[in-house]
Amino acid sequence: MKWRDLKAGELRKEHVGRRFALAGWAARRRDHGGLVFVDLRDDSGLAQLVINPERAPEAAKVAHEIRNEFVLRAEGEVAARAPEAVNPNLPTGEVELQVDTVRILSRSTPLPFQLDEENVDETLRLRYRWLDLRRDRMQHNFRIQHTVISAIRQTMDGLGFIDVWTPSMTRGTPEGARDFLVPVRLQPGKFFALAQSPQIFKQLCMVGGIDRYYQIATCWRDEDLRADRQFEFRQLDLELAFAEREDVLDVMEAAVVASFEALGRDAPTRPFPRLSYDDVMLRFGTDKPDLRYGMEIQEATAVTRGSQFGVFAGAPAVRFFVAPKAFSRAELARLEEVAKEWGAKGLAYIVVDESGERRSPIAKFLSDEELAAFPAEAGTTLLFGAGEPELVARVLGGLRVHLGRELGLAAAGDHVFHWVLDFPLFERDDAGHWTFLHHPFTAPMPGHEDWDEQSPADVKGQHYDLIWNGWELGSGSIRIHDVELQRKVFRTMGLSDEEADSKFGFLLEALAMGAPPHGGFAMGIERFVALMAGEPDIRQVIAFPKVSSGSDPLTGAPTAMPDATLAELGIRALPQDNSSSA
Ligand code: ASP
Repeated sequence: MKWRDLKAGELRKEHVGRRFALAGWAARRRDHGGLVFVDLRDDSGLAQLVINPERAPEAAKVAHEIRNEFVLRAEGEVAARAPEAVNPNLPTGEVELQVDTVRILSRSTPLPFQLDEENVDETLRLRYRWLDLRRDRMQHNFRIQHTVISAIRQTMDGLGFIDVWTPSMTRGTPEGARDFLVPVRLQPGKFFALAQSPQIFKQLCMVGGIDRYYQIATCWRDEDLRADRQFEFRQLDLELAFAEREDVLDVMEAAVVASFEALGRDAPTRPFPRLSYDDVMLRFGTDKPDLRYGMEIQEATAVTRGSQFGVFAGAPAVRFFVAPKAFSRAELARLEEVAKEWGAKGLAYIVVDESGERRSPIAKFLSDEELAAFPAEAGTTLLFGAGEPELVARVLGGLRVHLGRELGLAAAGDHVFHWVLDFPLFERDDAGHWTFLHHPFTAPMPGHEDWDEQSPADVKGQHYDLIWNGWELGSGSIRIHDVELQRKVFRTMGLSDEEADSKFGFLLEALAMGAPPHGGFAMGIERFVALMAGEPDIRQVIAFPKVSSGSDPLTGAPTAMPDATLAELGIRALPQDNSSSA
């Protein structure tokens, strides 16, 4: 049997008088004591079925059994709706199907939530994700996702990239996160790591003469789950041989613009602005600034050097930004809490009220000269950070983002893409040791190769990030293709040549066998799509995501495994205290 002649959402006026079969879900049933109306839904939209006991007594009997989310097949004649019954909000709103026969193809138990219910608890939605996926919001998101991925693939294809699959089970690439481990029955006690990204493999593809590689690659990282993080996610992962930074940025911009165009939206203008790391850290206190609004951080260290206000006088850095509102005391107290979350001890401020009057507990300590150096536009507040430059950046950067959100400073529909370039190559880890900032394969800037392995603080790397409205969409770099330089980076990170050989010997060998200069990028697909869909987190664009505790409410995974299964893998589970787990 042919289940349907066309989709429910395709029914139009020109079909009036024709006989069709439709199939889909009962979105709503209205019983008018005689006539029964059913909104039949499929992925294309809704059509109205009218079941009239006089026309179709058998169908009318069936219609009384229909409940929400039953799956139906209805056959009948398309009729024009009476003028007063036309629904202008629905593409099918001018017509209805006068049903002759209706069959229930599948029933539904009572629903845990109604599909048109707002604010359903997310865990419940994920527990019954098959229902949740039927909603318009989800259907819309997955279509956007598909359109974006198709546009990306077409772009890559047009630019001469080829799709090469790389292993999920590997030694793991050091991307700064914990690995997920996979035990191996054939080698009990040994583990693969799930790839945090295809980083090393794509570089080996370059050494292998694949000129332009790409992949929509799944990556696994054992990190705390957040709005923009899941254990597994996908990247548009790409790598180009004989490429300079601008070549890579160009490809990424093309992929972004093609995605906007495929969705019929105004694309951001190319080239995207390029800002340096040092510059954004000073002006916005973060390496992923949201540039939809100003509130740039300003320098006050020199002005406050001789200040009577001790906190300012002794601080290595004093900076501030101007928020476009004269805050009340209660608001300032709340902002101080935010500042403390970012590591500040307190929050110094100057409120300039609507009449231009300054209100500030520190004003009496500030000289006329200091006060004259600060903007005094009515209806604003100056918020200060004082201390080590990193702390000041963190606190003011955090406050800036907080206020950007609270004060609704970003205009809806505004899209600002930009690049952050010239990151430091190294940073200190929590233990104070030098480590990579991006990953250990990033090349230093030309001219920065001769660093002292003990003090690499000033070495800049050819690393770049793509930012959209304050979200880091992805990172990339020009890579090291010289084996000695690669060894030097490892040594700076505290890896002896022997340790480097044991961990990365295969890469070092490859680099020593004719490695072309190369560079690449990886962009988080779900982050990109979530922003395209206007969603606040990536779970809304992942069909079956995990919740923040790290479990899957739908299947109940992860689960304990029988001892015998573990024994086969050479593993014994330690007793767990499960009393606190849900
Ligand atoms: N592998 C890097 C990452 O996942 C991206 C890159 O450098 O291409 O962040």
